[in-house]
Amino acid sequence: MLLDGKKIRDRIEKELAHEIHTLKDKPTLAILQVGLREDSTAYINQKRIFAEKIGAFIIHKQYPETVEENEIIHDIHNFNRDSSVHGIILQIPIPEHLNRKLLIDAIDPHKDVDGLSSANTKKLWEKDLTGYIPATTKGILALLEAYKIDIQGKKVVVVGRSTLVGKPTALALLNKNATVTICHSKTENLSQETLQADILIVATGHPLLIKKNFVKPGQIVIDVGINLIKGTKLEEEIPGKKFVGDVDFENVKDIVEAITPVPGGVGPLTVASLFENLLTAYKQSKI
Ligand code: NAD
Repeated sequence: MLLDGKKIRDRIEKELAHEIHTLKDKPTLAILQVGLREDSTAYINQKRIFAEKIGAFIIHKQYPETVEENEIIHDIHNFNRDSSVHGIILQIPIPEHLNRKLLIDAIDPHKDVDGLSSANTKKLWEKDLTGYIPATTKGILALLEAYKIDIQGKKVVVVGRSTLVGKPTALALLNKNATVTICHSKTENLSQETLQADILIVATGHPLLIKKNFVKPGQIVIDVGINLIKGTKLEEEIPGKKFVGDVDFENVKDIVEAITPVPGGVGPLTVASLFENLLTAYKQSKI
């Protein structure tokens, strides 16, 4: 079975548009982008398109690659004080000379709709449901819920331990009573671990890492990876594709119970989940 992220995204989009239509003012998201990375610009465009569809507003603030931390922090503080701005995100990755943690922690936790600040991370750690869950993790939860896939008591293997995806996803699933294993680049015998999973979640940025011998019948496979193969050797092997996931979809799809496509799986839900967080932030700002 194909786990269709676009279908669920469309449903969330309708619900958000319907609710936002009834509001006095527009939920507003400030996006801070440093430099001109093509992939970041593409992700921001997806957010902009989604925002337009649901009636939210985007402020896109761009900085040159050489910007100083102080300048960004100054703007974050202004957005924190501005009651017409409900969410603030820093588009990641950012250049090496900038301290990501310092910048993200400058965002008011109530406006940290990416859920990446220390305050929101602590809430996820402590299973405090008042925090924002990072959008990709929230999207994965939405996908599992929409397809009525049980989490409680299941063996979940998360491949990847990044602060952005792997760790928050592992924690969120642990909070839902899964038995969670986290694998990473130093894990020995990765396939031995992945074969244990009821639900396998892969977020490595390593194209087609998970081959057919890494999976077995009955498994649910969630592929978070988005890898641009244009201009690489893989482009010749998989003609007509611009992006591939971290899972060798063509050779895995007929073995497992259910799998997300790339694109069209987790990606669309990440965007939708961000705007669900924004609407929550908007509502909380009115209390
Ligand atoms: P990252 O580079 O920060 O982390 C990658 C993780 O994978 C690391 O923890 C590393 O230990 C692990 N890893 C790398 N190679 C491995 C290997 N051979 N075996 C086992 N583990 C390995 O990346 P990230 O930010 O977590 O993103 C991962 C992927 O997910 C990327 O392709 C990224 O583009 C994609 N992504 C997709 C979405 C979405 O909405 N679908 C959102 C964020 C990131």
